[in-house]
Amino acid sequence: MAQGINRRDFVKAAASIAGVQALSPGPALAGTQKSLAAITTPLTLFNYSDVQLHDGPMRRQFDENHARFLNLADDRMLKVFRQVAGLPAPGEDMGGWYDLNGFSLERNDFHGFIAGHSFGQYVSGLARAYAVTGDEPTRLKINRLVKGYGETLDAKASFFVDYRLPAYTYDKLSCGLIDAHEYAHDPLAMNIHERLTRAIAAYLPEKALSRAEQRSRPHKDTAFTWDETYTLPENLFFAYHRSGKPLYLDMAKKYLEDDTYLNPLAEGNNVLPFEHAYSHVNAFSSAMQAYITLGSEKHLRAARNGFDMLQKTQSFATGGWGPNEAFGEPGVGQLGDSLSQTHASFETPCGAYGHFKITRYLLRVTKDARYGDSMERVLYNTILGAWPIQADGTSFYYSDYANTGKKAWYKDKWPCCSGTFPQLAADYHVSTYLRSHDGVYVNLFTPSSVHWTDGGTRLQLTQTSRYPFDNKIEIQVLASQPHEQAIYVRIPAWAKSDPVVMVNEARVKSTVEPGSFAAIRRTWKDGDRIQLEIPMPLRLEVVDANHPNIAALVQGPLVLMAIAESQPAFDSQALLRAKPIKNDRGDWTATSTSGSEVTMRPFMSIDKESYSTYVQLKS
Ligand SMILES: [Zn+2]
Repeated sequence: MAQGINRRDFVKAAASIAGVQALSPGPALAGTQKSLAAITTPLTLFNYSDVQLHDGPMRRQFDENHARFLNLADDRMLKVFRQVAGLPAPGEDMGGWYDLNGFSLERNDFHGFIAGHSFGQYVSGLARAYAVTGDEPTRLKINRLVKGYGETLDAKASFFVDYRLPAYTYDKLSCGLIDAHEYAHDPLAMNIHERLTRAIAAYLPEKALSRAEQRSRPHKDTAFTWDETYTLPENLFFAYHRSGKPLYLDMAKKYLEDDTYLNPLAEGNNVLPFEHAYSHVNAFSSAMQAYITLGSEKHLRAARNGFDMLQKTQSFATGGWGPNEAFGEPGVGQLGDSLSQTHASFETPCGAYGHFKITRYLLRVTKDARYGDSMERVLYNTILGAWPIQADGTSFYYSDYANTGKKAWYKDKWPCCSGTFPQLAADYHVSTYLRSHDGVYVNLFTPSSVHWTDGGTRLQLTQTSRYPFDNKIEIQVLASQPHEQAIYVRIPAWAKSDPVVMVNEARVKSTVEPGSFAAIRRTWKDGDRIQLEIPMPLRLEVVDANHPNIAALVQGPLVLMAIAESQPAFDSQALLRAKPIKNDRGDWTATSTSGSEVTMRPFMSIDKESYSTYVQLKS
């Protein structure tokens, strides 16, 4: 050891250098990639490796997900594909949704619901985790999984013969292969992607079908006449960006759900009601890729309008949406009604993943801080309160906003939400900061750092904060030499009363407008410090206009949920006089109409106790 690098480390380092040289795309491809996008968005994403999350709940979720899938046996993940291909298929069954042929609607048993559905997402989550960490065992695992999957793929993609949801699973495989290529430089992934795409066409309809259109077509499995063709374009456009192949562009255009969804949304018609929630939010991201790739303003309008309608007509105070995975009719009190009808209030990991994607796209295009506000609301009130995926695939799925709710495990192992969770946790990195031509946007407040170069200057920001449990944030600037840049910090719209922005203890002169990014432009020197103090007033948000006496207590971005065995009632002024309890959970206390002190707790601090997201107001 005293002699420095040991042989194993040396071999590893040499292998990784060889890998990078052999596998990175050549200059020709890099050049083509640029010209394939019609739109350069005003804000762009950092590389995953440019951002580090430090100790905190976001970092913990990223590490947990990375470790979970790094330690999941390759043989188990590949088993169903090998079984169908008639290859030796060692290893335990995965269980739950992932296995072959066990599904029974009569028994309400989703064992074997959609074989292998989330394989691509697990590969994608690992590829993004590799992009963050550069962890060599992760890269090797991605290579083994991609190669192993490729060995099961024949020219007709026979795996999909009589398969219930070919578009659903193809979309996830497509994403995994693209990410394996993009982030882990996998040498086989795009070739396998093309073989799969050419073969899958035989299993797909001629265009994106709405669920109503699918119901009108005969299907051998009448219980499931749906598939999610309308989510395909986002990844098909990505495949086009990576490869330049017109095949992908043609297919991407074909599966935009224009007729029944995106065209009406672009014209301002709210066609969300009765659609499946998560997949139709995901379809907004396909519309955004159509805008970026084709320059289609109509698709940008569709995504912006659709997201507005989502926020205004379908969302709870937590930022979650879609009780029972469906959008409801606006104006009839459907959200309030759902509180006494279901515990399946928000499909949390999938919904949060889709929500982060669309808000990131809209932020990149508009630089509008309200998309960051919306993202953090979902972050703190939904996904950061999700329990980690267990070794046997037991997963957190629905958040429960019922009058009296409880956190619960989903009944089936390895559901859809086990696929999106690792992808989302890696995406925390690229959601925290965004790059502009003149500097950096600080979008989320969390212990983290980001580094970049501008001209010949190396710069880094390091954030420290206990936000949202504390309203102070400090950002330290490191610069290899004094350098002019703009640093934009998000001032949330709810921070109404005099937010403070200081540099080196001196208050910034320019106006600081809640609901926008405050621009701090100056010549930054090594060691400069930005200090923020964001006022977090308490407020009440009613569930919908038809239920004016059912409200959530909200502080800054945080919903404070009442810890109680049955839904408590408060005088509204008494609720607004809630007092913080100085503990690590961010608890508050308020006096109910019965005179008892009720603990008000953020979702991310709740474990097995009963809680009420919404409480009754008596006056
Ligand atoms: Zn899900």
